[in-house]
Amino acid sequence: MAEPASTRLTIDLGALTHNHAVLRGQAAGAEVAPVLKADGYGLGAGVIGTRLWDDGARTFFVARLSEGEALRTALTPERPATIHVLDGFTAGSGRRLAAANLTPALSTLPQVSAAQAWAASAGRKLPVALHIDTGMNRQGLAPDEARALVQSTDRLRGLEVGLLMSHLGSAESPKNTRNIDQLSRFLEVRALFPQARASLSASAGSFLGPDYRFDLVRPGISLFGGGPEERPDPRLRAVASLTAPIADVRNLRPGDILGYGDSVRITAPTRVAVVAAGYADGIIRAGRAGGYAWFAGARRRFLIVTMDLLVIELGEAEAAPGDEVELLGSNALLDDLAKASGSVAHEVLVRLSRRAERTYVG
Ligand SMILES: *Cc1c(COP(=O)(O)O)cnc(C)c1O
Repeated sequence: MAEPASTRLTIDLGALTHNHAVLRGQAAGAEVAPVLKADGYGLGAGVIGTRLWDDGARTFFVARLSEGEALRTALTPERPATIHVLDGFTAGSGRRLAAANLTPALSTLPQVSAAQAWAASAGRKLPVALHIDTGMNRQGLAPDEARALVQSTDRLRGLEVGLLMSHLGSAESPKNTRNIDQLSRFLEVRALFPQARASLSASAGSFLGPDYRFDLVRPGISLFGGGPEERPDPRLRAVASLTAPIADVRNLRPGDILGYGDSVRITAPTRVAVVAAGYADGIIRAGRAGGYAWFAGARRRFLIVTMDLLVIELGEAEAAPGDEVELLGSNALLDDLAKASGSVAHEVLVRLSRRAERTYVG
């Protein structure tokens, strides 16, 4: 007997390698330093990081200290790499940062002081990055704060500033003048740290052109197939594919009300498939408005998304229980689902849950 079909998340490491190569081409001259925060955008930072290291990546970023520790463990001593922690030098983190050889990206003056005090008491140089806020107003030292640091002789003593970084707020819109404003602020601060490497761009910024590349770019989402302009980009391949079996095929009649509440009223005879996946698997419920699955060679629009089941319109397609539907992948596109969900590709990926069976291929 055949295996019963199940809801499955397939993670294609061949596609990851392909996207990594696309980014290296895009950012020619700069190092590509993958961002693997939130467990590699939910896809498994250990496996993803190992593959990217084998493809040549030597510098990584994570958000949390614990993510850095996990990535260090996964890379093992055979794969030495610089791992930056975007949370920076949080309270009491000195010993753990040192033990796992992690580099904090300092983003406030208190963090700089705490890191400096720790380095002094440990009697050793602490490698750090400095995160500068050039206009996103979320995280980072103000340019004036960075200037004050270099002007005093001892506020950076014991710290080895290896990287100066900032983050763009509107890079997905290449024409937005906010990019140029942030770039010019970054250039001013960079002049204060001539010995440090510099990094301004994440995925989207990597596509903005040579002025935005500096020494190192920090892509996350485009490694996983998310387009730099928040829409599908044919140069990139889908790394995550979510498929699910059809549980039932039903014929709805005019006057039927589908699912919870009464918002989906059927006005014409409609064949639908009930699919064994829902928001508990990561298909965001809001995605029903405009979202689609791929089945029998065409897009089939979502009618409802519930926790464990969703319903798609079949049209004339032949379908039977057990047939597989693609909810995310090379036909049901990540950026399209993100848009339908009123969100971004990043959120769609990190919400893919542990319930679907995971397989790594490629
Ligand atoms: C998340 C993040 C990135 C990666 O962003 P993508 O849009 O996924 O490429 C890079 N830098 C910083 C500071 C981040 O927070």
